[in-house]
Amino acid sequence: MSKLYKIAVLPGDGIGKEIVPEAIKVLKRIGELYDLEFAFEEAPIGGAAIDSVGKALPESTLALCQKSDAVLLGAVGGPKWDFLPAPERPEAAALLPLRKGLGLFANLRPVSVFPALVGASTLKPDVITGVDLIVFRELTGGLYFGEKSRRPLDSGEEAIDTLVYTTPEIERIARLAFEAARKRRKKVTSVDKANVLESSRLWRETVTRLATEYPDVELEHMYVDNCAMQLIRYPKQFDVIVTENMFGDILTDEAAMLTGSIGMLASASLGGQVALYEPSHGSAPDIAGQKKANPLATILSAAMMLRYSFNREAEAQAIEKAVVAVLDEGYRTPDLMEQGMKAVNTEEMGNLVTQKLR
Ligand code: NAD
Repeated sequence: MSKLYKIAVLPGDGIGKEIVPEAIKVLKRIGELYDLEFAFEEAPIGGAAIDSVGKALPESTLALCQKSDAVLLGAVGGPKWDFLPAPERPEAAALLPLRKGLGLFANLRPVSVFPALVGASTLKPDVITGVDLIVFRELTGGLYFGEKSRRPLDSGEEAIDTLVYTTPEIERIARLAFEAARKRRKKVTSVDKANVLESSRLWRETVTRLATEYPDVELEHMYVDNCAMQLIRYPKQFDVIVTENMFGDILTDEAAMLTGSIGMLASASLGGQVALYEPSHGSAPDIAGQKKANPLATILSAAMMLRYSFNREAEAQAIEKAVVAVLDEGYRTPDLMEQGMKAVNTEEMGNLVTQKLR
């Protein structure tokens, strides 16, 4: 009998509702081809959940995620909810507690340049051809979670964000990065700002100590400002990058542009029993409802689910190969469109990938 995988499906807002069904279509076809059984159960999150049940992360949604084998998320947020105080907006009130509730401390973002898309990047082809790196971003510590406060001053106000990291927090993400490097090209670049930040000095000391357990992996340290430059100058030097929360947030968006479109960038968040898979982009309100969204980041996130949560490498590769084949044939959503290529909408792109699966 085939194994049953329970997947919590959270489409969310904006283009989330358009791209998630395409990834499900692809997973269903994988199930048929490889004799796997998926049970999909949908739940509201983000603005959609605020509208329907008055809460960005309803308890029932979190409970569903916790009892599933994996979570597939679209995106949350949009102008309709921007009037809410910051802590009540979908991004803060849904994503942060969801990550916390699932114990997700590591965000993985692979950045590989598809040969067919070399022309879609703003960077020169010889700089990006062959780029294949993965960023491990720490997800539950640092400035975004530290204590925040404000106090009045004689002239204006003072605002304080706190940047806190502990040795165990650094060790657990660094360990994942070293383990991943072992299965890749055996190089870890640890990114920090140890010349000015105390938290970065602890980061560097901890990663250096851990590296002694991985003598087969080369470790280099790089300041975040230099890393921002090197990603554009010579991105092929990177294999695995590991960094703290805010540096990772910024560097992954920069790295996204190596691929030509943020619509190509998948992600996985790991750490607890149940992992979360989502595209790296947001809900793209500017194109929502127009069938223009690129579903490939979500489809590639589903491939990561097969790889990391279900240990199904062949099935993950089948999806990745199908995406390559469709791009090689010249099919493009508007974000990737170049002269001479064949324009398709969100659903057509999903159908093409599904048909290419073997
Ligand atoms: P965004 O990623 O939604 O959009 C940035 C740009 O990229 C837009 O021009 C958009 O059209 C384009 N884009 C994004 N995904 C695309 C896709 N799949 N195909 C084609 N084009 C795509 O970022 P933003 O505009 O800064 O944020 C919009 C909303 O999304 C905000 O409410 C923001 O808070 C939220 N957001 C949510 C998440 C998440 O759910 N994880 C992440 C980032 C932003």
